[in-house]
Amino acid sequence: MKKRGLLIIISGFAGSGKGTLMKALLSKYDNFALSISATTRDKRPGEEDGKDYFFVSVEEFERLIKEDALLEYARYVSNYYGTPKKYVFDMLESGKDVILEIETEGALKVKAKYPDTVLIFVMPQSVEEIYKRLKKRGTESEEVIMKRMTKAGEEAKVIEKYDYILINDEIDECLVRMYETINGARNTIMRNKDQIERVNEEFEVFLKEEK
Ligand code: 5GP
Repeated sequence: MKKRGLLIIISGFAGSGKGTLMKALLSKYDNFALSISATTRDKRPGEEDGKDYFFVSVEEFERLIKEDALLEYARYVSNYYGTPKKYVFDMLESGKDVILEIETEGALKVKAKYPDTVLIFVMPQSVEEIYKRLKKRGTESEEVIMKRMTKAGEEAKVIEKYDYILINDEIDECLVRMYETINGARNTIMRNKDQIERVNEEFEVFLKEEK
């Protein structure tokens, strides 16, 4: 039987560069599956439905909630965002490591339900850098940018609840650290209870036979 994959959550302030990091991770390494979220926010130029997000209406989103089709959902700067459940579970069962790129509220809900989840927080070197990156993107009004900065300030308060933090100053180097972090997480005692149980059983049999 194939070993179940890891559920990994990557969060980070808007403008932390985590989207670019995710794309690089997926193109460089195998065995990762990126979950595509549903959202009620407007599509940005260059975004594609079914690739970046499933862009849905508020009514459709609320139907997904009612049908219990979401693993988690949250409101973020006046819009709904949520993770379709089926894809995540199917991929985990098939042995793939599944990545959710979601904000902190949803991330902590998933961790509470599935303590085995790996939580990674990505951030740029300074608050000034976050603001600069949002401005540079040029897709949001100053009002929305300030709302996102306020939200980032709230998210900063819960970073301590995460398992790992990565400072994204140089993308290639951060990518390698992210990959190493995920692999390190695979080796924790909590995630290897089956191996520990097996070695103890084998010892019991072996030591009995030796007597
Ligand atoms: P953006 O509008 O910039 O694409 O995303 C805004 C925030 O929503 C980001 O922090 C992003 O990680 C988060 N987000 C995207 N999809 C989901 C989701 O399915 N659930 C939750 N809780 N947050 C999400």
